[in-house]
Amino acid sequence: MIDSDCNSLWRASSPAAPELTSLSSDMVVDVAIVGAGFTGLSAALHLAKKGFSVVVLEAQEVGFGGSGRNVGLANAGLWLEPDELDKQLGLEDGKRLYDALSVAPDTVFSLIDEYQIECEATRHGTLHAGVGKAGLAQLQRRCDQLQQRGAPVQLLGMSDAQTRIGSEKFCGALFDPRAGTIQPLAYARGLAHAALKEGATIFEYSPVTSIVPEQDSWKLDTEKGSVSAEKVVLATNAYCEFGVQEQARKFVPIFYSQLATKPLTEKELERVLPNKEGCWDTCTVMSSFRLDQQGRLIFGGMGGTGQRLTNWATQRVHELFPTLSNLEWDYCWTGKIAYSEDHLPHCQQLQRGLFSVAGYSGRGIGPGTVMGKELAHWFAGDIESLSAPTSVLRDTPLRELKRVFYEVGAKAYHLGQSKHLLT
Ligand SMILES: Cc1cc2nc3c(=O)[nH]c(=O)nc-3n(C[C@H](O)[C@H](O)[C@H](O)COP(=O)(O)OP(=O)(O)OC[C@H]3O[C@@H](n4cnc5c(N)ncnc54)[C@H](O)[C@@H]3O)c2cc1C
Repeated sequence: MIDSDCNSLWRASSPAAPELTSLSSDMVVDVAIVGAGFTGLSAALHLAKKGFSVVVLEAQEVGFGGSGRNVGLANAGLWLEPDELDKQLGLEDGKRLYDALSVAPDTVFSLIDEYQIECEATRHGTLHAGVGKAGLAQLQRRCDQLQQRGAPVQLLGMSDAQTRIGSEKFCGALFDPRAGTIQPLAYARGLAHAALKEGATIFEYSPVTSIVPEQDSWKLDTEKGSVSAEKVVLATNAYCEFGVQEQARKFVPIFYSQLATKPLTEKELERVLPNKEGCWDTCTVMSSFRLDQQGRLIFGGMGGTGQRLTNWATQRVHELFPTLSNLEWDYCWTGKIAYSEDHLPHCQQLQRGLFSVAGYSGRGIGPGTVMGKELAHWFAGDIESLSAPTSVLRDTPLRELKRVFYEVGAKAYHLGQSKHLLT
């Protein structure tokens, strides 16, 4: 894997990927997919199941993008509060997207069951941890909106939240039992195995260098071969490269990095997240934390890797969990999130037969899996459109400025210069 900034726990602990080759001939298929992450692999699996001939072309390896690098919180819904979704999309479309994504963890965990994917899947829920009064107010608002829509979420008071998290720094937490945690690279690799089993073809190290229209189809070129397909899905999200680079202008790329400790002792594990929920906080510059199967604490925050991040993570973990002694980091890795202007994923039909699904804004395990599945149903004529908005996205205005703003903000925060971002 060409990525010098990656000492990833997920790579070290994932079951093997399928043995794949790169494309070295010319092929004709029904659907060509660019990118082997959750979106592309779920689309391939479900399309193959529906009887389409389908090829996935991946520039690097299966799970190279956000799918193999993320926190592994398989959540229901999106970052946006449900009322905000209705405001942005209108009541009907807001409800449609809400309904589709509120059951997204069911889609993920049932695929894991069906294809026996070994990916440390635990469905113990997630805890959105409240920091300060503003954090608690945010959780209360979110809880009310979710409960109004029948979601089985529960707002935990300070004492319950502190016991469940094992830290005295939080004043409440929103528990969502629909969610769970996975080992994300293992899930991506498992989806690849499943897609192959259903008859899809996947090529690694086959970056698409150009996509050009032919008479009734598209031709995708790679260095040593080409694929002609009636339909093409760009499933590259924040990792738009080579022939699909112009898609990058639609989103602001933001780095999010994680560090993993040595396995905690049994005594420590009795206190820190004893029920093994995945966790993230309400701070403006968010942190996330969870355990893996070996009992390592995985701690994440906005921004790239480096000494500044490591120092900040060490200090923050000591603040949150003062009983953790001898904190040592075994792994540290980073990934790029594609923030869309409205924080929503979008399915765009760029030209006839050329589609792009992207903009998960940091929540793509459930949504990516669901959108891939919906694409298959849409192409098969089972549904009229995806549940995500289908408008053609404009380029994100001031994209570079926004990227720098987030990066500098995260650095300032990690240096302890922006205490107000802790609320
Ligand atoms: C650090 C981090 C933490 C996150 N945490 C969570 C979380 O806890 N929960 C959650 O739900 N979501 C999370 N997300 C978001 C989630 O990981 C992404 O939304 C999701 O992985 C997107 O999947 P995808 O398949 O659309 O794209 P990706 O997984 O990014 O895959 C895109 C692929 O396209 C390939 N590609 C690009 N250009 C070409 C080309 N020209 N030819 C061939 N292939 C190409 C890339 O190599 C890449 O493998 C996180 C993301 C990051 C980065």
